[in-house]
Amino acid sequence: GSTIGIIGGGQLGRMLAMAAARLGYRTVVLEPQPDCPAAQVANRQIAAAYDDTAALAELAAVSAVVTYEFENVPVMAASALAVTVPVYPPASALEVAQDRVAEKKFLNGIGIPTADFCPVDNDDELTAALKKFDGSGILKTRRMGYDGKGQRVFRNMETGGFGGTCEAMGNVPLILESFVAFEREISVIAVRGMDGSLAAYDPAENVHRNGILHSSTLPARIGSETAAAAQAAAAKILAALDYVGVIGIEFFILADGALLANEIAPRVHNSGHWTEAACIVSQFEQHIRAVAGLPLGNPGRHFDCVMENLIGDDVLRIPALLAEPDLMLHLYGKAEARPGRKMGHFTRMSRHR
Ligand code: ATP
Ligand code: MG
Ligand code: MG
Repeated sequence: GSTIGIIGGGQLGRMLAMAAARLGYRTVVLEPQPDCPAAQVANRQIAAAYDDTAALAELAAVSAVVTYEFENVPVMAASALAVTVPVYPPASALEVAQDRVAEKKFLNGIGIPTADFCPVDNDDELTAALKKFDGSGILKTRRMGYDGKGQRVFRNMETGGFGGTCEAMGNVPLILESFVAFEREISVIAVRGMDGSLAAYDPAENVHRNGILHSSTLPARIGSETAAAAQAAAAKILAALDYVGVIGIEFFILADGALLANEIAPRVHNSGHWTEAACIVSQFEQHIRAVAGLPLGNPGRHFDCVMENLIGDDVLRIPALLAEPDLMLHLYGKAEARPGRKMGHFTRMSRHR
């Protein structure tokens, strides 16, 4: 069979490599860190930085197609690769997803509402932006944030005296988002094939703890119109990006059922891990099918379920979890359980549908 190149060696790359193997593909992972989760199951690792020219040339030479498992792949690397080998999702999707301001402008531009926002580059701009949002909001780094890192919350605070805030945030470009008093959070995992075909999984209801995804519950406690609106927004986003592969889209749901898009992740997504347990074709297999030019599978769901992440010391729960009869455990092969580190997840199945 042919070889799929994967940029990034974390757990998402690992699960992509497993899905690829089941469809008869070989995988090569580009990742500087030795013995990373993905390299443990891939056929081969190229141990180099994501922007290493020689490594990228080698990846292009051995791969029939290249994909990635995290959204901070250097855009230059993806575009350089794309000259000699197909790269999916397209580098343009990376560009939009890497900058929270570009992301919100893109979403608003295709008619999908988000929280109000203001780019912030210094303390004076922060003061002005906070004034505009009545002294509350979430200040985030425009780039590179994940798991709630690089964020600071302001709630009903004074509208002045923020000297030093931008320096404390690392003197990088920032964005102030208005604080959304959401009723719940959901996400839609959707996929677009090479022929433009679409599939979307049922929305998951997500709970975050300390900025990190804690659980995803199916079904989400939302009406069918809200679910349909979220899936329609996903379809619009995929078409606008001329996308190929799986995307994860996070939404806030307001008390009246209205949707605001929070962010898009141009890759398989943590809130879609339940699909490996409750669906015949998981998000990982859908992604491999899409980037390999195969037909998409059925996103239908056969169980109600709850996925929970195992973070740091949560690994101590593993013996008790394994004693549960209807629970699927998935561990990432990380040796050391550091605080805040995603070690694995489980999906607890309830009602058969
Ligand atoms: P991820 O790991 O999902 O990429 P991230 O670091 O990019 O996370 P966000 O998704 O922007 O962070 O924010 C993390 C969480 O913080 C959200 O899921 C939500 O619970 C809360 N949050 C973010 N922005 C807002 C907002 N504008 N108003 C209210 N809550 C917010
Ligand atoms: Mg994010
Ligand atoms: Mg998020």
